[in-house]
Amino acid sequence: MARTVTDIILLGPPGAGKGTQAHRLVEERGMVQLSTGDMLRAARSSGTEMGRRVAEVMDKGHLVTDDIVIGLIAEKLADPDAAGHAGFIFDGFPRTLAQADALGDLLERMGRPLAAAIELAVEDEVLVDRVSGRFTCGNCGEVYHDVTRPTRKPGVCDACGSTDLRRRADDNADSLRQRLMEYYKKTSPLTGYYHAKGLLVRLDGLAPIDRVAAAIAAALPAPVGA
Ligand code: ADP
Ligand code: ADP
Ligand code: ZN
Repeated sequence: MARTVTDIILLGPPGAGKGTQAHRLVEERGMVQLSTGDMLRAARSSGTEMGRRVAEVMDKGHLVTDDIVIGLIAEKLADPDAAGHAGFIFDGFPRTLAQADALGDLLERMGRPLAAAIELAVEDEVLVDRVSGRFTCGNCGEVYHDVTRPTRKPGVCDACGSTDLRRRADDNADSLRQRLMEYYKKTSPLTGYYHAKGLLVRLDGLAPIDRVAAAIAAALPAPVGA
């Protein structure tokens, strides 16, 4: 039987739960998470001139230019190690119509049609609490929250035991305001774009993490091997 490959996009404002759900899909379905936010954070800590420019843009809450992020994604898609898995989760990409068109072209050339663009709908008021309580494991990428998803043991990652728990420089109220503006101006039109292609699935991102995960699972084809 042919292997089912399911490539999906997770759409939603900063703090909607994209990274949290992507991480679960990796664990539970063997999918591969492609987060442009994570790639850009890696670039900024590399100490290169590009990294320095990217850091400035990110800390202000603006979007990095399309050619940089499209280049990062194209590089990952061309990586032969990425072949043969259960599918890509595009997390935080695309964020503009130009990025959406570029992704469509890249996937079409690879003969991989997109299965769904899943929108996690969350009200703005909740997002301030979401991002101000967010921290992640620097070792395994698990996403936590001071109130809604604390670690079982303070200061220690449940998943891998690491004590390298990090907060992001841009997770403050000022930067969030700017990021939300960018979201509504440049990214939210993508919901119409994917709706027109028959790919949009809108889910309630305010539900508890397990319920959101179940709703995503219900929207996808059965996992490989199930
Ligand atoms: P969040 O999880 O809060 O939505 P991300 O980690 O996805 O944030 O992104 C952090 C920052 O990285 C963004 O505010 C933006 O500056 C930059 N960034 C990430 N992805 C993209 C993208 N696809 N296009 C442009 N900028 C991006
Ligand atoms: P995004 O990648 O969309 O910016 P994250 O997955 O990083 O969002 O989630 C933002 C914060 O909200 C994290 O601290 C995470 O633990 C928490 N969170 C994610 N989903 C939920 C949820 N459904 N209910 C409550 N808190 C959540
Ligand atoms: Zn960890």
